[in-house]
Amino acid sequence: MGSVQIVTTILAAAITAVAVWLAVRAVMKIVAVVRLGQPDPERFGDRGTRTKTMLAETAGHTRMLRWSVVGAAHWFVMVGFIVLSLLVLEAYFEVVSPTGGLPLIGGLAVYGLVTELIAVLGTVGIVVLIAIRVRNRPTRPGGRSRFTGSTMWQGYFVEAVVLAVLIMGFVIRGFKVATDHFEYPLWATPVSHAVGALLPDWSAGVSIAALIKIAISMTWLIVIALNVTMGVAWHRFLAFFNIFFKRDPGRAGSGLGALRPMMSQGKPLDFEEADPEKDQFGVAQVEQFTWKGLLDFSTCTECGRCQSQCPAWNTGKPLSPKLLVLSLRDHAYAKAPYLLAGGGKDLTGEEKATAAQLAHMDVLALAEAEKPLIGGAEDGGVIDPDVLWSCTTCGACVEQCPVDIEHVDHIVDMRRYQVLIESSFPSEAGVMLRNLENKGNPWGAPQNTREDWTKGLGFEVPRVGEVDDFEYLFWVGCAGAFEDRAKKTTRAVATLLNEAGVSFAILGEGETCTGDPARRIGNEFVFQMLAQQNVETLNEAFDGRDKSKRKIVATCPHCFNTLGNEYGQLGGEFEVVHHTQLLAHLVSAGRLTPVQPVDGGLTYHDPCYLGRHNRVFAAPREVLGESVAGGITEMPRNSERSFCCGAGGARMWMEEKIGKRINVDRVEEAMSTGARTIAVGCPFCSTMLNDGVNGKGAGEQVEVVDVASVLLRSLKPADAAGEKETATSGS
Ligand code: SF4
Ligand code: SF4
Repeated sequence: MGSVQIVTTILAAAITAVAVWLAVRAVMKIVAVVRLGQPDPERFGDRGTRTKTMLAETAGHTRMLRWSVVGAAHWFVMVGFIVLSLLVLEAYFEVVSPTGGLPLIGGLAVYGLVTELIAVLGTVGIVVLIAIRVRNRPTRPGGRSRFTGSTMWQGYFVEAVVLAVLIMGFVIRGFKVATDHFEYPLWATPVSHAVGALLPDWSAGVSIAALIKIAISMTWLIVIALNVTMGVAWHRFLAFFNIFFKRDPGRAGSGLGALRPMMSQGKPLDFEEADPEKDQFGVAQVEQFTWKGLLDFSTCTECGRCQSQCPAWNTGKPLSPKLLVLSLRDHAYAKAPYLLAGGGKDLTGEEKATAAQLAHMDVLALAEAEKPLIGGAEDGGVIDPDVLWSCTTCGACVEQCPVDIEHVDHIVDMRRYQVLIESSFPSEAGVMLRNLENKGNPWGAPQNTREDWTKGLGFEVPRVGEVDDFEYLFWVGCAGAFEDRAKKTTRAVATLLNEAGVSFAILGEGETCTGDPARRIGNEFVFQMLAQQNVETLNEAFDGRDKSKRKIVATCPHCFNTLGNEYGQLGGEFEVVHHTQLLAHLVSAGRLTPVQPVDGGLTYHDPCYLGRHNRVFAAPREVLGESVAGGITEMPRNSERSFCCGAGGARMWMEEKIGKRINVDRVEEAMSTGARTIAVGCPFCSTMLNDGVNGKGAGEQVEVVDVASVLLRSLKPADAAGEKETATSGS
């Protein structure tokens, strides 16, 4: 070992020792913070599926590849990071000796080839990612950036380190080529040979370049160890765990569909036995999220994909799912020293720690602990109430997140505490909640008018109890029974089912609201009250049938979602289809045959609770494809990336006071396609988009209509016109 190698070896060992010591401390800190969360035992089941999903999502970059260029570039950088860790290891042999290399695999041509290839592709990938970050920087003139609110220096730093490490890899190899110590053939390592042709014959260069490479890598480790909230770096390690522990690993769109039940001490809360002094009602303190919630916050990469798709953020509301996650993360880590010292409030609001425990506590941690989780700027709140109540629970954030963060569950958990304990929510929603409690529907319509939509149909709509051998129970829903526009859809669906010879029956006055708006606003108590009543009614209606024969068809995606995905949590197992799915089946089976396709250009708006939350994208398009001359003109934001109408998450019953109206934004997009018909598959979307069209003064030119009505018109244009008139006059 020459004198140069003695110096490089000592320096490499010293910086590595410091970096590893700091990194171990940082990992222990992250683990300690995550462990502050509440138990969540369900995350440990079905490890086989969890492992498969985690490997498939990581290796396949299934979310990111939807953003093709970014996804491909990130894939090469990720693979580069894993494979090139070997080259960092190799550098430790090279600081010791200019001819050093990895034992066993070092020297194999195939190793030289693979690492060379990955280094080249990784370099291209990281340059692309840097270019994208620069192009989308928040300070660029005009437009909103998905990086707004992200810590930009951290992103640039991480990317610069990756680029520098890759370049140093070529320099080390180049010096080996120049000094004739390189063991790989030209065909396997052409770039390294090209670099070598430019470098002098200087054997110390190998060890010095290797030291620089190690120093850069260890500086990166030191920086991230000193910044445990640096998600852009830590996600490289945490994302595997976050994906592994996602809520439902076997389901596309985990964190969508059903909401996570309200939990206390790791178990779903039973309101009959619940005690607010012993049980947690939603989330009022950051440590009341589960450990998976805290892992979610720690894993956020600050990529801003969620933000770029969020309807609230895109229409000027203060909510960005990314900024919400970052606020919770920063608060959790700032409060952690106080919590780890034994601090915290019990459920009656009393301090748990003794004065001695808090005696030497960092004042900043104590100040952080005093911040209310939900509160305005004047109260120093972590999350502003306007942020919390702006969410439509559309699920675009969950859908986009490459590391499977479950934003909607966290938002609803915080709403639950506000509604159930603080009674603090937008006042206008109070009427809806009172109506649900007193009348069983959000409009407060008399229950004895639930069947009014059946009047004048020209055929009898059977009720459960009057017939036993029905195939489908037609769940009409509150909108479908009481809301004028939705009643047209209900009548169209009943007419089509009757036409196709499907045997169905309704519950009539036996039906009440599924509880979706109550649950999404955070009133789990009202949800459970309504849901238990409905589960009982439905179990009675299907008495003696297997699950496969307990079939329900619903026209409202919110009912569809609640009946199919959430009633199982309360003992109601049913086979639920949306009416567009059943109609698509009837058309393909030849039981309904469109004969006169509707003309004039049509676009389709995916309802969030049908599309993203339940992956029903094809069925409505199949029906429309058969029913519309020239097919569908898609909007730029469609299918998984569809833009919300603004009504979900009980926003239908709240005023939209901030920013641009979401429905207007969506209607502008729909109208930009030139279509004269906007087809929908949800009564709330129908109302919101129709309001948007009227608001733009385009009511004469553009019609908002349900998929079922489009199909009915294409079957029997005259009858459909009559149907339209009857429903309108009956309203
Ligand atoms: S659910 Fe929709 S509205 Fe709510 S934060 Fe996510 S993207 Fe935004
Ligand atoms: S998409 Fe996920 S990782 Fe990216 S900023 Fe949003 S929450 Fe964070």
